[in-house]
Amino acid sequence: MSTQEQSAAPTTQTQSPDVVVVGAGTAGCYAAATIARAGYDVVILERKTEDEAGHIACGDALKGADAFPEAIPKSKLEPAFTNTGVDHGRFEIPQEDTVLEIPIPGELAVIDRWEYGRRIIEGAESVGVDFHYDTVVNDVTQADDGRVTGVEAIRKGEPRTYEAAVVIDAAGSLSVLQDHVDFSESTFDTNVNYSHFCSAYREIVHVDEPVEWDDALVFKPTERAAGYLWYFPRTDTEINAGLGFQMTEEPMKLVDDLKRDLENRPEFAGAEVEDKLGAALPTRRPYDSAVHPGYMAVGDAAGHVNPTTGGGIAGAAYAGKYAAEAAIKGLETGDVGEKTLWEYNERVMDHFGARYAALDVYNILSTAIDVDDLMGLLAAMPGEKLAEALYSGSTSIGPKLAAESLYNSRGHWGTIWNFFQTKRRADDLLELYEAYPHHPAALEHWQERRDDLMEQVYETTGADPKY
Ligand SMILES: Cc1cc2nc3c(=O)[nH]c(=O)nc-3n(C[C@H](O)[C@H](O)[C@H](O)COP(=O)(O)OP(=O)(O)OC[C@H]3O[C@@H](n4cnc5c(N)ncnc54)[C@H](O)[C@@H]3O)c2cc1C
Repeated sequence: MSTQEQSAAPTTQTQSPDVVVVGAGTAGCYAAATIARAGYDVVILERKTEDEAGHIACGDALKGADAFPEAIPKSKLEPAFTNTGVDHGRFEIPQEDTVLEIPIPGELAVIDRWEYGRRIIEGAESVGVDFHYDTVVNDVTQADDGRVTGVEAIRKGEPRTYEAAVVIDAAGSLSVLQDHVDFSESTFDTNVNYSHFCSAYREIVHVDEPVEWDDALVFKPTERAAGYLWYFPRTDTEINAGLGFQMTEEPMKLVDDLKRDLENRPEFAGAEVEDKLGAALPTRRPYDSAVHPGYMAVGDAAGHVNPTTGGGIAGAAYAGKYAAEAAIKGLETGDVGEKTLWEYNERVMDHFGARYAALDVYNILSTAIDVDDLMGLLAAMPGEKLAEALYSGSTSIGPKLAAESLYNSRGHWGTIWNFFQTKRRADDLLELYEAYPHHPAALEHWQERRDDLMEQVYETTGADPKY
């Protein structure tokens, strides 16, 4: 019998890689692969078992895979793309007895999410990332000056300590790590609460007959404005069916509501459910700063999700890359302070963060607007303009289209006026985010200007303050 087995209290094992990444999801795998490719020693800690890792609740719609970071090559992921023939959204509006077909710009695929999850793990492993499964991180260690120095974890009942120059928090929505870090020495965004999240649930459903809409992402509002159902075809007989609601709303019975909708759709008669999963996802603006000395949060852990569509895979991949490159700079210079890592914040805002913050304004509007009015308005809007609004964070309508839309939408003019006023506010916000500060000392002044704009958003929309 070994000495370890004889002792009553388990001894803590300590490991000291250059970087510790918590979470083997998209953000974690892309971050770790980028760091390993630069020749540094990096470990991913994942609470799930090796078999279960990569099994993550998702709608399975992957947008923007054409321009994913190269740390894990796209060719590695492609076998998980089960449907690449999807090119538009199909918005069912029962209140108006209307179906809107709206083109979706850019490359789009519906994927087998678990297979994709395994493939990004394989991709990271193949460039030298070390994976420690069954490892639940439950604390963060900090030096006297506040710098994060590592994490504490439990692996199969045994305590583990990891010391590292940089910790990357890729632990997803509502990351527990942030509850344990004292952020008083940095500008890390702690203005986060449950109302900024959406609770979502999905089933993988098999049908006997091919569905007619296998080239579309199908969306349908739930009975309340802040919720929607989706049907995303992985193939023409395998459908990801799910729904979600904003946590500010009265909780929905997700499983029952989905079941009811499935029962009312003839194409799902006799369907079989293969897999069920639910989770929370952030539907908010990105964190103002996701950087603290020795520590960065990425992906869902930093609100990097398009708040109007719930799409977070692409943002997570890029955030992972940008955080990793900031970490590499820190390792090279021996300085992992807030100023050195700050470039990560700037790159996120520049690439997608500013756009997501502007889109959040429409989310805020949707909490204040009457659902029937909103659906009536959607039914009247030209589809390609809605698509623009949904993905670019801004849209402009020429005089002819404006006149047509106005004619079609008579009865909803109050909402339209409200919508256009809101768009102005969103444009102002986008402009301010495009001037995101270059160093932490300037953040407070920038936040004051942003908060003034947010006041105007609440005034225009009549919504309760979200932040
Ligand atoms: C129901 C649903 C549907 C969605 N649909 C889509 C969609 O169709 N398209 C899209 O682009 N996005 C979608 N999203 C959002 C998308 O799934 C996320 O934005 C994306 O997965 C974020 O990746 P991530 O790496 O940040 O976090 P995650 O993928 O959540 O990975 C976090 C990892 O950290 C691990 N972990 C957590 N805590 C600990 C801990 N304490 N110790 C160790 N490990 C830990 C978890 O087990 C997990 O493996 C959806 C989300 C939900 C919930």
